[in-house]
Amino acid sequence: MPSKKTKKKVRTIKIDVDKCNGCRACEVICSAFHAAPKYSSNNPARARIRVIREPLTDIYVPVYAGEHTAAECAGRDKYTIDGKEYDECAFCRASCPSRDEFKEPDSGLPLKCDMCEGEEEPLCVKWCLTDALVLEEREEEVEEGQEQEELDIGLEALAQKHGLQKILDAVAKMSKKD
Ligand code: SF4
Ligand code: SF4
Repeated sequence: MPSKKTKKKVRTIKIDVDKCNGCRACEVICSAFHAAPKYSSNNPARARIRVIREPLTDIYVPVYAGEHTAAECAGRDKYTIDGKEYDECAFCRASCPSRDEFKEPDSGLPLKCDMCEGEEEPLCVKWCLTDALVLEEREEEVEEGQEQEELDIGLEALAQKHGLQKILDAVAKMSKKD
């Protein structure tokens, strides 16, 4: 029997590295939005976007927090841009055991960009005055049930890493905040 298709909305933030001036407003607003209670504090270590910087040439590259991975890669990558070498894995989006980026500083739980769920426009886009971050939206056809499958895989990976109870406690804590 042919599987049913449904439409899902895909939101993409286009990053224009040449327009980023390194102001870090995106980090500040992201961490404030995700503070508990909302906007009570800001700490870029809690942001789901980090601006990677090469000080000698003032190149700024915004990187969004992506998927959590339970195991680190067997290899590493290292970029050279305009003759400047960046740290290993500098542009990787994963919350991974090999480094501290994209982890909640207190609990160690992985951070992932949620596109500012509930907001009409992602706040980092709104606060980026240079238009280095621009939101684009489109619709895509997907198999029915695919989104649930992706959610199941993500939850299973988290439960394997942190234990189910810790995840349940974190969810209970988050629902109290809302
Ligand atoms: S707010 Fe925009 S210009 Fe400022 S650091 Fe973030 S991406 Fe760059
Ligand atoms: S879209 Fe929202 S959650 Fe994602 S990095 Fe920007 S401010 Fe943070």
